[in-house]
Amino acid sequence: MENLEKLEKIILENESFLLIGHEKPDGDSVGSLLAFNMALTQLGKKVTMLLKDPVPTVYLFLEGNAEIVNSFPAKCPSIVILLDNGDLRRTGYFTELSKARKAGTKIINIDHHIRNDIWKIAEVNFVDESASSTCEILIGIIEALEVEISSSMATALLTGIHNDTGGFKHSNTSQKVLDVASKLLKRGARLKRISDNIASSHSVPMLKLWGMALNRLKVTSGGISYSILTMQDILSAEASEEDVAGLVNLLNTVPESKMGMLLYETFDGKIRGSLRTESDKLDISILAHYLGGGGHKKAAGFTIEGKFEKINNCWTIV
Ligand code: 5GP
Ligand code: MN
Repeated sequence: MENLEKLEKIILENESFLLIGHEKPDGDSVGSLLAFNMALTQLGKKVTMLLKDPVPTVYLFLEGNAEIVNSFPAKCPSIVILLDNGDLRRTGYFTELSKARKAGTKIINIDHHIRNDIWKIAEVNFVDESASSTCEILIGIIEALEVEISSSMATALLTGIHNDTGGFKHSNTSQKVLDVASKLLKRGARLKRISDNIASSHSVPMLKLWGMALNRLKVTSGGISYSILTMQDILSAEASEEDVAGLVNLLNTVPESKMGMLLYETFDGKIRGSLRTESDKLDISILAHYLGGGGHKKAAGFTIEGKFEKINNCWTIV
């Protein structure tokens, strides 16, 4: 692929890189950041990994996460690589990146989201919408760079694939995904550790929080299975925002559900929406995009202003 050669050239010809994943990072964001850091470091490059928000507890078993920083460097490296971001605002560093770009920094976009505002400003767009995850795309790049895939790199990459395929359950679990996963296992990826940490680990606060949402679950006649969580719920369960991850998939397991939707209040005083569908006929990213967010056909999200108030015994966004 022409872009791969361009990408390789930029990587080989430069010394310092800033890697940025998306805010409220998930397994694909953290996995791709850590794995590409390992690959570039093996090539002798100087790398900074940046995430707006802390790494969720469930991914702390991945090697290298302590090196991730949360503030934009005073002197931005000449090459910024955006991983799994979906759009520029989702980096959490829109202003800083715009400024750095004006000062000559080049942006490389490696992603599996649909075309977005990063496309116009990136030097190279290495994007494959049909890929399950950014980690799946990265494997091809790492191989082209002739970097040895270590066991910890393989685990980080498999974490991203595991995350974005819902543990190899969603319809994006293609033959290629399983081929690539098998290759990573051969390189020493720890699948059992990944699933123990991500899918099979539910803390008491997390389960109490999920219980509150499940208690309020409703399914509309049109097949929208939905629930809400307030900040008060999160606090009274002694849970955190990251404990919400995975809950929307459970809402969507109701047999008559065509789309699962979870709306929850966030610590910054907004409401976040998570959408999921298993239907090939729907494209829920359109709805998410309409509400100022984005995502994929079957998994999308958005953030809106507002909070929940119970009016006439009905939870209402005010
Ligand atoms: P989640 O429901 O797990 O927060 O998000 C599901 C997927 O939707 C994510 O993997 C991401 O691709 C996308 N997504 C979620 N929130 C946003 C958003 O605010 N903007 C964009 N562009 N994509 C989002
Ligand atoms: Mn992803």
